[in-house]
Order: sequence, then C-alpha cells, then structure tokens
Amino acid sequence: SQTAKKHTFQAEVNQVLDLVIHSLYSNKDIFLRELISNASDACDKLRFEAIKNKELNAEDLHIKVDFDKEAKTITVSDNGIGMSHDELIENIGTIANSGTKKYLESIAKKDKADANLIGQFGVGFYASFIVAKEVEIKTRKAGAPADEAWNWRSDGKNDYTIEPISKDSHGTEIILHLQDDEADFADNHRLRSLIKKYSEHVAFPIKMLEVIYPEKDEDGNDKPAKEPEYEVVNDATAMWKKNPGDLKGKDYQAFYKQISNDFNEAAFWTHNHIEGTQSYTNLLYVPKKAPFAMFQNPDDREGLKLYIKRVFITDASKELLPNYLRFVKGVVDSNDLPLNVSRETLQDNPLLKKIRSGLVKRVLGMLKKKTNDSEVYGTFWKEFGDTLKEGVVEDFSNREAVLKLLRFASTHNDDATENVSLDDYISRMQDKQDKIYFITAESYAAAKNSPHLEKFKEKGIEVLLMHSRIDEWMMGHVQEYDGKQFQSVAKGKINLGDEDKDKEDKTSEEDKDFLKKLSEQLKDHVSEVTASTRLVNSASCLVMDEHAMAIHMQKLMEQAGQ
Ligand code: ADP
Ligand code: MG
Repeated sequence: SQTAKKHTFQAEVNQVLDLVIHSLYSNKDIFLRELISNASDACDKLRFEAIKNKELNAEDLHIKVDFDKEAKTITVSDNGIGMSHDELIENIGTIANSGTKKYLESIAKKDKADANLIGQFGVGFYASFIVAKEVEIKTRKAGAPADEAWNWRSDGKNDYTIEPISKDSHGTEIILHLQDDEADFADNHRLRSLIKKYSEHVAFPIKMLEVIYPEKDEDGNDKPAKEPEYEVVNDATAMWKKNPGDLKGKDYQAFYKQISNDFNEAAFWTHNHIEGTQSYTNLLYVPKKAPFAMFQNPDDREGLKLYIKRVFITDASKELLPNYLRFVKGVVDSNDLPLNVSRETLQDNPLLKKIRSGLVKRVLGMLKKKTNDSEVYGTFWKEFGDTLKEGVVEDFSNREAVLKLLRFASTHNDDATENVSLDDYISRMQDKQDKIYFITAESYAAAKNSPHLEKFKEKGIEVLLMHSRIDEWMMGHVQEYDGKQFQSVAKGKINLGDEDKDKEDKTSEEDKDFLKKLSEQLKDHVSEVTASTRLVNSASCLVMDEHAMAIHMQKLMEQAGQ
C-alpha cells in the first residue's frame, strides 16, 4: 500500500536468516517455541514496567495461538509490552546481540553452521521463516494510543515494510503465512502438542480455542454448534515455585531447555526453597556441554534470571554468581528484594550479596554430591573443570571447597584421565611425606615423562601431573590444602628424606671440580649447576628457582610477546 515504507535488513540479518533457514531445517518445530518465548518475554517486560508506571495495565497477561487451515496461517499474539516503530526497526531489523556477531564470524570460517549453537544467539524470531513464506507483525506499545500501531511485513529476503495501522489492544501479533508444504502446522493437535513439548512451563497462560465436536440431540439431529472458547493449554505456573517432590526429571529438563536455548539436556540441577533471614527459591542447572561463547567473554554471560516475587527483573548472571561458576543456568526468585531494584544498583545490594554467597555454596554443594558418580562428574569435569579452577584464585573464602572438587591426572594412574582428587592423593601419601607434589607442563606426555619424576617414581611417591594452561597460574596462587603444602617437583630443593640429604652434602672433590667447569661453560644460560639426587636415569635436568615461573609458562609469555 501507499503508506507502507520499505526498509532493508542489515547485512548480518540476511546472513542469519540464511543460516537459520538452512541449519535449523531439521528442527523446524522450534519456530513456535521461539515466538512463544518472545511473547512471554514481552509479558514479563510489561509486568515489570507496570510496577513503576501505574498507567500501564498488566492484568490478565497471556499468549494466544490461533490458526486458519484454509488461509494457511498461524498467529501468535500477546498482550505484553509491544513495540514502537523505532523498536521494531531496532529489534527485528538489526542484530544488536554481540554474541550473534561473534557466532557469525566463527562460522564464516567453517562452512557448516552448527544447529546446536545457533539457538544460543537470539536468532529466535527469524526461526519463523523456516516455515513461513511471509511474516507479519502487528504491534502496539503499551501506553501508546490505538492509532499508534504498526504492521511489519517481510518475506525474509533483503527487505521489509512498515505501515501505520490501528490496533485495539496493546501487545504484539505475529502472523505466519505458511509455505505451501508446511501448511500442516496449521492444525489444532499439532500446535497443542508443540506447546506441550516446548512451552509447557512458560509462566503465562498459553491459550487456544477449544475443539468443538459435533453433538447430536436425543432424536439424532445435529445440535447447533456452540461458540468455541479459549482454554489454557500449558501448565502456566512458575515452575520453580513448586515443591521439588511434585516435579519429575522431565519437567526439569523441559524447563531447562525453555530458559537456556540449549538443545542438549541439563546434566544435573539443584532446586531449593530457602527460608530464613533471606527467603528465596533457586533452581540451578549445570549444562552437559559448555556453550559456545563461554570462553570468549565471561562478561557477556547470561542464563541466570532474577525474579522478585515471581516478577522477572533481569538476567543477573554476573550479580548472582562469580565468574568461575558462569556455566550455571537457572532461576532465582527472591521474596525480600524490593521490586523497584534497578540493574545498576543490584550489584551493591546487601541482600543480593547474601543470596549470592548462598548460591555459591549451593552450587559447590551440588558438585560435591556429584563427585560420588564418577561418570557424571567425569563428564562435568571435562567440560567445566578448567573454568572451576579459576575459583581457586578468584574465590578465597571458598578456596578449600573448590580445591576439594578438582581432579588431576597423576602418576598413580597409567593414563591421562583426570580423576584424582587432593583427598585421594593425601590418603595415599607415604608415612613421612608432608607435601603434595605436582608438576606443570605443556601436555600430559611432557608431564609424565619429565626427568623430575624419576626419584619420585623410584620411591613410589605420587605426583600430580598438571597440563592445562590454567594450572601454572592457579598453582602460583595456592600454597596448601588440608594443611599440606604444595610443592612443584621442578622447583627449588626437594628433600625426600634424610638419607638423600646426606648424599647431597657429600659431593666428592672430583664432582665439585666437574660442576665448577660446567657452571662456567653454562654461565650465560643457568644460574647454578649442582649435584642432585632427584634424578635416577637421566644425566641432568633444569630446575627452577622456588618462585620462578615454570618453563612452559615462560614460553607462553614469550609467544605472547611479553
Ligand atoms: P531474543 O528474544 O533473544 O532477544 P528474538 O529474535 O527472538 O531474540 O527477538 C528479537 C527482539 O524482538 C526481542 O528481543 C524483542 O525486543 C523483540 N520482540 C520479538 N517478539 C516480540 C514480542 N512478541 N513483543 C515485543 N517484542 C518482541
Ligand atoms: Mg527470543
């Protein structure tokens, strides 16, 4: 029409559209989940805004799913916050999410998109185009007059139009004009089963028209059909508020998928209603797989949502848990925080700080419990072990608890499996042994074959074989565990018993001469050449000063140009 204005998608949007349509083709069901999740977000936002702005009406918030078989359309509507003209352009026409941009860059290098990852980057709305040949949005911002509403249309290729319309109520209506071969989605049973499968635990009612079956009267004649009414299809309560005893594993998994965008299931979770000086509910999940963006920028992390008395406030991942627990997803619902907290002041709120330290203990406690199941914990450790290690340095008050959760490769094992805890190590310590011995190296093989281990092998003393990039840094910050000192076998003097000490002192005159000559020859490379009892088969090895950086760490820093 004449009033419709044409706009072009930002280049990246085209790229995302292309990707979504091609890589999610075998997962097309998810379009409905994405639209319902946006509708639910919109209801959350209005409820939150209405706390501050009494003019706004946030009653009876809900989502409706309608369809028309003949017209081949599906409509998802909500009475949430709605969008202004500029927000339409901003939110739908451009990709603001920095994670999406990074994702695009990373897959530009590979040629195939990973469908497991794409869901994590806020491409939600574009999923509509997997099944629709054209999508329409009718939206009116809450608080705006009826004639300040907009109709957005696009076929998902290059451009879209926006036209002013009039709309009776605030909120958003998304109309999918289905592709001919996807028309089967416009079906009552199919839509209901998708809602049950993906959106059961959305905390707002999702309504569909009831199915009316023709009825006969006593004489066998058709009764006049009654008008169908909307009925609620999903559970529509805040799941986390329920009693854990009333919930099943599949409820938890369904809710996890709903809040995490993760295609995989959660590995495990903890769900608690806490009463006391602070009363709150937490439902915290550990994923099976590390999400794509996790190691790129811990500052961008999300997935831990803060509610206050069931009102969604904000994603508060950073405020609720420290960086080293950034893999945890879930929901925290406080009864005590004031509803008017702002994101900016959240961090300094003393009540929130208390919740935070409670949550850290919950997570560490959950992990501790999981150590009893070596398979489950082994999988967790592979995905998140290195992240957890950051806690040894970052979280002084819980250091002992974090150290207890660490697992290492060790000379006690024949392979690289990291399954030795510090407690295991201590339980195997020899009678006179008072230190926890470890070595850090670039790889498991380098650690295992280090000449520094020879004497320890001979004496049957266990050494932890550390070979992850973070280990050297971590061990530089920690002195002891359970009253036992850590000692690098590659640093300083090692004393494995009196008998050895004697030998060390009794270097013969002949040897002293030899050492002196060697020292002179190597004076540009080493600070000292000494006789040592730490070797058994090798002729010599390099030993670090007690406080020096390990050799591979020095190499790393040289590589980094330091
Ligand atoms: P995400 O939900 O991860 O932000 P989407 O692609 O699903 O990404 O949606 C993009 C944006 O479009 C949303 O952040 C929101 O601002 C806006 N939006 C989408 N659907 C609605 C809706 N039903 N009501 C209001 N805003 C919406
Ligand atoms: Mg979304």
